[in-house]
Amino acid sequence: MKNYIVYSTLAFIIFQAFGIQAQDKQQMPPKATEVWEPVPVKINPGETNADPPSDAIVLFDGNDMNMWESMKDGGFPKWKVENGAFTVVKGTGGIRTKQGFGDMQLHVEWSAPDEIVGEGQGRGNSGIFLMGLYEVQVLDSYESKTYSNGQAASIYKQSIPLVNAMRGPEEWQTYDIIFKAPRFDKNGMLTSPATVTVLHNGVVVQNHYTIKGPTEYIGLPKYKAHEDKLPITLQDHGNPVSFRNIWVREL
Ligand code: MG
Repeated sequence: MKNYIVYSTLAFIIFQAFGIQAQDKQQMPPKATEVWEPVPVKINPGETNADPPSDAIVLFDGNDMNMWESMKDGGFPKWKVENGAFTVVKGTGGIRTKQGFGDMQLHVEWSAPDEIVGEGQGRGNSGIFLMGLYEVQVLDSYESKTYSNGQAASIYKQSIPLVNAMRGPEEWQTYDIIFKAPRFDKNGMLTSPATVTVLHNGVVVQNHYTIKGPTEYIGLPKYKAHEDKLPITLQDHGNPVSFRNIWVREL
């Protein structure tokens, strides 16, 4: 008897819900669900997916490093600009954008040294630190073994890429990164963690991954409140990794 009451009550609720929905549809003209404002801003996407769209901030177009500064002394970066690319000069330290960025779409092309030197984490290592804190690994892991959560396109020591989409060291790699910055309340408590999607050479390798906190070499990551926008940094890991065609769109 008890069951009968439960089931008949359930059936009644379901019937009511469907009934209301059907009624809504009948009363609602198609126009009621059309949204006309705002109209998305028209931009020029460029000839190919690698070209900076018209609303991008170009961080490096092959000519100079005016958008960057040295992390060592805040001065002009001592990395080498040559043939439309800039290359890490060992020992000169990492570099950072002069401007800060939070939510963003970031396009970066990079190339590991043509001459293969070293193994694992010592082969073509650099890194793209979103907000200077969250590393998308740059590494020659084309044919080189290392820990999976430390290979190219990993979120370093947090997330293994879905596949290894590496091209050989003599070729250019592309990263297209979609990043949502973490949010903190006024007391510095985390209200939403950062998320990141990464396409490596056009292949999705990080699918809306929820970042656990700032990248740590030792120990576990833990969020600490920070600014809404912070510089993007590139790592000097002692290997002559090159970069070109870098642009960012604020989201
Ligand atoms: Mg690195």
